[in-house]
Amino acid sequence: LSFAHMGLDGRLLQAIAELGWAKPTLIQEKAIPLALEGKDLLARARTGSGKTAAYAIPLIQHLLQVKMSPLVMEQAVRGLVLVPTKELGQQVLQMIRQLTAYCSRDVRVADVSGQVDMSAQRPILMEKPDVVVGTPSRVLAHLQGHSLSLRHSLEVLVLDEADLLFSFGFEEDLKNLLCHFPKIYQSFLMSATFSEEVQALKELVLHNPVTLKL
Ligand code: AMP
Repeated sequence: LSFAHMGLDGRLLQAIAELGWAKPTLIQEKAIPLALEGKDLLARARTGSGKTAAYAIPLIQHLLQVKMSPLVMEQAVRGLVLVPTKELGQQVLQMIRQLTAYCSRDVRVADVSGQVDMSAQRPILMEKPDVVVGTPSRVLAHLQGHSLSLRHSLEVLVLDEADLLFSFGFEEDLKNLLCHFPKIYQSFLMSATFSEEVQALKELVLHNPVTLKL
């Protein structure tokens, strides 16, 4: 299956072509069609497999295709990507920026993974980016400080490198974060290993997920 046959928005296809990607990687080929059907996904995937685009492409497609709930009156954050490190946060931000090169006004993304102090990030969040990338601790701090709200608007949640989220001690933050989320339309859980903690997280955040072991 090629990218062109997945029913993606033309602006996404243009960005993919510009990146020079001839065809989807294995995980993208499996994950993207399922994600576009609205399925929650649990994917075992390592760095280098193309896992970031495997969730970023359906996330962007959703934002381009589906209008925000009419109950949310104004611009609001619709996608959240939680990452264990600020380095990964930067990589995810870059990937989403590249994929949204032709729709950067419709899908705006910000990274709050803790590379700078919180006060510098507040004005960025005030502009209500469509997607926020960040570490659990920093995202939680912004929620608690009221510089970020997800309660009514969050539609797509991604937990990237979920196994590392646990080894880096974000478990407590994750639990606290969950009470700030509304009923979410779709969630993705990406992990290099399926540990017990990841299984437990799966029960907490995913609904009838499809499991991909690649
Ligand atoms: P990731 O596994 O998400 O860290 O991605 C690893 C690298 O693969 C990144 O540099 C991506 O830009 C690249 N990549 C992702 N998808 C594709 C694709 N379909 N074809 C070629 N390269 C890709």
